[in-house]
Amino acid sequence: MATAVAPRIFKNFINGEWVESRSGKAYENRNPANTDELVGMFASSTAEDADAAVDAAKEAYKSWRLVPAPKRAEILFRAAELLVQRKEQFSKDMTREMGKVLAETRGDVQEAIDMTYYMAGEGRRLFGQTTPSELPNKFAMSMRQSVGVCAMITPWNFPMAIPSWKIMPALISGNTVVIKPAQDTPLSVYNLVQVLTEAGVPRGVLNLVGGSGSTVGAALTENRDVPVVSFTGSTEVGRVISKTCAPDFKHCSLEMGGKNIIVVMDDANLDLAVDGAVWGGFGTTGQRCTAASRVAVHKSVYNEFVSRFVERVKSLKVGDGLDASTEMGPCINEAQLKTVMSYVEIGKNEGAKLLTGGNRLDGGVYAKGWFHEPTVFGDCRPNMRIAQEEIFGPVVCVIPIHDLEDAIDVANGVPYGLSASIYTRNVNRAFQATRDLYTGIVYVNAPTIGAETHLPFGGTKQTGNGHREAAIAAIDFFTEWKTVYIDYSDKLQRAQIDNN
Ligand code: NAD
Repeated sequence: MATAVAPRIFKNFINGEWVESRSGKAYENRNPANTDELVGMFASSTAEDADAAVDAAKEAYKSWRLVPAPKRAEILFRAAELLVQRKEQFSKDMTREMGKVLAETRGDVQEAIDMTYYMAGEGRRLFGQTTPSELPNKFAMSMRQSVGVCAMITPWNFPMAIPSWKIMPALISGNTVVIKPAQDTPLSVYNLVQVLTEAGVPRGVLNLVGGSGSTVGAALTENRDVPVVSFTGSTEVGRVISKTCAPDFKHCSLEMGGKNIIVVMDDANLDLAVDGAVWGGFGTTGQRCTAASRVAVHKSVYNEFVSRFVERVKSLKVGDGLDASTEMGPCINEAQLKTVMSYVEIGKNEGAKLLTGGNRLDGGVYAKGWFHEPTVFGDCRPNMRIAQEEIFGPVVCVIPIHDLEDAIDVANGVPYGLSASIYTRNVNRAFQATRDLYTGIVYVNAPTIGAETHLPFGGTKQTGNGHREAAIAAIDFFTEWKTVYIDYSDKLQRAQIDNN
């Protein structure tokens, strides 16, 4: 494909240096809204590159773990300030490589800023506990310790926010890092690594290796000098990583797919619920792990809700995310667009009622991008494939429900458990739903998206493996507890035996 300017080549960052891949190869990163635009060429790395980065991180760990956490925090504070200064440029870079609208990429960078400040603050906390010993003249406490080299494997839908959720808690806890970004969005991780380096992260502490999951990702997860693996992506790849980590008992955090739901009860504020369903379903072109791809609506307000919802969805302006009037950008790439198109066919064949959309947008301003119409299926049955499987695109299934119990059965009746929401003005229903929805995140009178960095993030069932990102939960993952007993009695004291 033609390109107007000479492409910039982005290298790996290993042991404090920008270095070429041993393969000598680079791949193209193109704008999904206009594939004529080459964002840059990025290193297509080998397993040896990944191993070299791990070696550097292992060496750097020896000194980084001993840097006082408040000093590590100062570096993160400086990085946060740099992110604030460069927010607009980084947001534009992200829209060019990922496609989501500028308001959303600004939100993505802001999330990285929030996470960086939050984890910097942890530098003066990282609290452990002291507690009385059961024996006299004995002191007991628990304290956190760092673990070592952390491998991070990230997806393309939150190109800076998700890497920051992993990098910041790992660094503040005294670990070192090797990150492999998604192939579709490496520039945002490059920008983040650049900022952290300028802020003073020492050589070898933070390394970036670009390339494919099957080569670089696999090499990182297999490397025996990597005790910690943090992955966000599909359930399918998460399962592979989980198996790779198991024999060495690596700490392994998996944040995976979702099939999230908005429940609209008969007493809901319907205008608010429609706003929530449009934003939850079509924000980020439906390519959020927390996207509201199902909307379950009480039968008594079903027709009213559907007609207002469909009217709003029809009016959504699809286009280049850099255009301020655009409300929904393209799919990330051709494969994702094809997945969306195939699910539209599946939905039609299953007998769901296509209420709007259903087609690829092609020609004119859409000719060079991976655009799809925002699509709504009505009268969906909860067991249809389009209502069970993660589509990760601008497709929402509307499911009629009879009452709250029915809604909760439908909500919980999928293999995933990331986010769920209920619109109701009845406090009893709100609390019952909060209790009974088996997901990692519940919203009341708000859509399924909108996580804040100081609360735990993650999901149940096939969405996750029991860990949480963000908040103190992230520190829990990137540290090990050490329990310390100090006996100053000057004699042998036997716990459980000498304390009667
Ligand atoms: P993906 O699983 O295809 O890729 C994720 C990352 O894993 C990429 O960097 C990829 O290169 C790498 N990878 C692929 N194969 C690998 C292997 N064998 N070994 C090691 N690494 C490998 O996912 P994606 O398409 O980038 O992202 C979309 C998915 O991510 C969706 O399922 C979405 O729900 C999920 N997601 C989940 C969350 C969450 O927090 N739960 C957040 C965002 C996205």
